[in-house]
Amino acid sequence: MAVGVYRYRDRLGHRLVVILRGLPCAYGKCTFCPFALEQSASPARVIADNRRIIGEALAELEREPVGRVAVFNGGSFHELPYDTVERLRPLARGRVFEVEERSEYVTLEALEALVEYYRPERLVVRIGFETAFEEIREGLLRKGMPDSEMHRVLRVRDEARERGLPVEVWTYLLFGMEGISEESVAESLRVFKRLFDGVIAVRYRQYHPRHPRAVPVSERLARLLESQADLVDWGGDQWVIAGREGAAPG
Ligand code: SF4
Repeated sequence: MAVGVYRYRDRLGHRLVVILRGLPCAYGKCTFCPFALEQSASPARVIADNRRIIGEALAELEREPVGRVAVFNGGSFHELPYDTVERLRPLARGRVFEVEERSEYVTLEALEALVEYYRPERLVVRIGFETAFEEIREGLLRKGMPDSEMHRVLRVRDEARERGLPVEVWTYLLFGMEGISEESVAESLRVFKRLFDGVIAVRYRQYHPRHPRAVPVSERLARLLESQADLVDWGGDQWVIAGREGAAPG
């Protein structure tokens, strides 16, 4: 999805999704990563683009307020330049504020710092664990986030809540990729729903010839995901450009 500001009305409510320009992901080893397309190795370009995008988002909020803002940068929030981090404060304050992170950035100190700095109504951290099966996550996807890491993050979340921090941890669930069976997706959904505060199912798209192949998705799985995941992302078609009328699917 292109960088920019998108207004969404779906089962997560009326919200803005702000797609920022990111620097190349420091990890950079996932076999299916589509985000290189939107990243730039030039900090000056990243800073300039993000100033413009955040300006657009602020104008959108002025035009029609929302209670939920998601900020994505095709990588981890903690890898954004400070100039961008600072300018996001008015977007986050008093709202449900969503960011994406790799798991290694999720520590108790990091969550405390984010809540103190942004003062959101609630902080939602999205992490791409993708599947509950470690052999798929580490073998096929090379996420570099084993089960032990997943459980560490969940412990951190629990501890943060015990300290009164308004924090949730959501996970992505990948489907429609060769090597990830529909049975495993259904089982991952079941496991993730028990462990995480939210599950966003994401339809895999192959962006590069050396990436794993995309496969068709059965109606049965589609129905299961639509009825049980918190959100299903079927790809780019449903995005609504900010400022235009229209409903997005949930
Ligand atoms: S962590 Fe995300 S951005 Fe980094 S390589 Fe993996 S999929 Fe790409």
